[in-house]
Amino acid sequence: MPELAEVELARRLWDVGRGGVIESLSTSPKVRVFRGVDLRAFERALVGSVLLSSAAHGKQMLFRFGPAPDAPPHAHMGLHLGMQGDLLVAEPGAPEPWERGKHDHLVLHQRGGRKLVFRDTRHFGRVLFHPGAEDPAWWRDLPPNLLSGEFTTKALGAFLTRRKRAPLKAVLLMQERFPGIGNWMADEILWRAGLHPETPAGSLDPAEVADLWRTVRRVTRDAVRVISPDWKYPDSWLFPHRWEDGGKCPRCRGGLVRETVGGRTTCWCPACQPRRLS
Ligand SMILES: [Zn+2]
Repeated sequence: MPELAEVELARRLWDVGRGGVIESLSTSPKVRVFRGVDLRAFERALVGSVLLSSAAHGKQMLFRFGPAPDAPPHAHMGLHLGMQGDLLVAEPGAPEPWERGKHDHLVLHQRGGRKLVFRDTRHFGRVLFHPGAEDPAWWRDLPPNLLSGEFTTKALGAFLTRRKRAPLKAVLLMQERFPGIGNWMADEILWRAGLHPETPAGSLDPAEVADLWRTVRRVTRDAVRVISPDWKYPDSWLFPHRWEDGGKCPRCRGGLVRETVGGRTTCWCPACQPRRLS
């Protein structure tokens, strides 16, 4: 499932279409990614308008459309990539496989021939439509971004205390506090912080909470900074080693372990992340 860095990368891909006039839309009206969307109103709002700007927040994206490049927005589209959704750009004259496929559920055809494509083979993604000049309520109500001033050590400590018996791995995947953190980022955070994934959330002392908070911010910043279309992670991270059989910890060269924790395949280093006795 795409995590916040992959979502940010997908959002940036459509930046080439900013300022371009949308001449027509292709949609797959029957697929569930459009559930609840009035497709006729959606099409009326977008055709003839331009893509003004976009933003990513956790796993959610927002695209703003208006009548002209310097005009205020008059419509908003939310996009969630679900399990395997992706955004693509087909430049004018692009050959196969850029021709419309059966899983390209939304294609914005721009003047000049560029196509902005939302592809989703599993149909777990979601398109939301909001007519109007203001950002929609579902966007404003998202939990605080992990790099915002609202995500504080105090807020983190309170959240961990409320879920004191849950393993840290499961807690880091809770989107109401950690929007956009998924499986690999949670493992990367715990590895860098030296915490075993089954550590009970309530067992951290204040210094460990502060360290976890710093690590969450650092991994979030690093992931967004490093992300690129060729998706290369530094060898010093856990990420490139986590799926290798016989993978070695890049810090201590000890063997990594892969087991299910909190219902998800989890990778850690038993030497760098020892289990607590209590
Ligand atoms: Zn290690």
